[in-house]
Amino acid sequence: MGETIAVLAFSGPKRAGKSELARMISEKLNIERGRVADVEFSDPIIEATNSAATEARELVEDPRAYEKFRNYMVKHATQLVGEDEKSAPSAEAMHTHERRADQDCPECDMKNWYDETRAGTELSRENKAEHRAPLVWLGVALRDTHGPRVWGEEVGRRVERAMEAGSKLVTVGGVRSPEDVAAIGEHSNLFVVKVIRGEDADRDATNQRRHQIKPDCVVHNKGTLEDLEIIAGLMADDLVGGGLKPEYGV
Ligand SMILES: [Zn+2]
Repeated sequence: MGETIAVLAFSGPKRAGKSELARMISEKLNIERGRVADVEFSDPIIEATNSAATEARELVEDPRAYEKFRNYMVKHATQLVGEDEKSAPSAEAMHTHERRADQDCPECDMKNWYDETRAGTELSRENKAEHRAPLVWLGVALRDTHGPRVWGEEVGRRVERAMEAGSKLVTVGGVRSPEDVAAIGEHSNLFVVKVIRGEDADRDATNQRRHQIKPDCVVHNKGTLEDLEIIAGLMADDLVGGGLKPEYGV
């Protein structure tokens, strides 16, 4: 474990430069690629969805296919995180379209996705943007059945395993809420780095809870790779020195 220099969770809006900054920091720290671990928050959710989809292949003719698929999702997710099995939350509990008309409804989106795809596509980090509905649904559903920290705990265990396997830098992508941060932080000394690009404040309405995450460090990305390189160099030096400053790029 002593070999790990840092565990960094990146938050901030899309296209703020989070992954570029992560890559640059690992280069500045001179870490060989094999010793940088990248844990994505969506990884366990993708894996559980794929397991459920495999089990659901037999359901093509089943009139209750969708209902069963919902239960498979929760079943495989609970197995993956090592919790007790429970049945999926009711459709009523998962419908938010009346309460929060300005936002997407996880249940309606999931039903539409299932009707269109019959869960026939293997999900991955690469195609997850086109299959957000089941991932959002399962993210919400398992928090409903097993508490708000359930995914953060799983991600925290993955971070721990990466550290034990000798990773010098672990980056965690896709952290969405203070509960996520708290759960991961119990497994490691986590720095939360928020990346903001130029004047473009975080206006992503689907990620309200992300605003409540208290970052350890805010990076103002002015938009050029040269500036970001300089920031990455400063952050790398500070990480080796034991900690990050509260702000970079101001
Ligand atoms: Zn709905």
